[in-house]
Amino acid sequence: MKAFNYQRDIMIRDHLLGRGIRDQEVIKTMRDVPREAFVDERMREKAYGDHPLPIAEGQTISQPYIVAYMTEALELNHTDRVLEIGTGSGYAAAVLSRIVKMVYSVERLGGLAEAARQRLELLSYTNVVIHEGDGTLGWPEHAPYDAIVVTAGAPKVPQPLCEQLAIGGRLVIPVGRSYDLQELVRVRRVSEHDYRHEELCGVRFVPLIGAAGW
Ligand code: SAM
Repeated sequence: MKAFNYQRDIMIRDHLLGRGIRDQEVIKTMRDVPREAFVDERMREKAYGDHPLPIAEGQTISQPYIVAYMTEALELNHTDRVLEIGTGSGYAAAVLSRIVKMVYSVERLGGLAEAARQRLELLSYTNVVIHEGDGTLGWPEHAPYDAIVVTAGAPKVPQPLCEQLAIGGRLVIPVGRSYDLQELVRVRRVSEHDYRHEELCGVRFVPLIGAAGW
């Protein structure tokens, strides 16, 4: 929507480019996806602010910079099939869907999953499928994935997600012993049994709740 062009430009210039996001595909996509359509009517004016915002059921839509940072860290290609754990509003799934071939997204809360499904359909994001369930177990039917992103904080990297990563695939996930403070970790599957871990930066996410989570 034209009314948000100015706020979107500030987000791109100050919060993304200004903080070191360099992937042109990520920048272009975040200029295109209407973030205001993923938040409540009364939150729309704040949609491009440099912070997360509350959505339904006590959950959040992540800060734009964090969405950009995690998307960049996934090192995506146009042919990739991506698994997202934590659909929330559907915003990050929409961003991912503009860069890759197919996005599979899992949300544990049925109300959020259904609202995101309707929103993405209305906005014509046709290469995203949403499943209601425990994402700590991944979504084995569509594995292996070229990239997996987890948008909630886990106590440790869930084993099922490592197993569902293709060789050469990247998993980006907030991991921490505390319920609401984590380190963003990138796990790269380099061979059948060999995974490389890198710590990227400190983050703060809502908890990943499930069999292989909290
Ligand atoms: N990616 C979202 C967006 O763009 O709006 C933000 C996600 S929000 C920070 C984290 C989400 O993870 C919440 O919607 C929460 O319900 C979900 N979640 C927590 N544990 C989960 C699990 N085990 N499986 C799937 N989703 C989970």
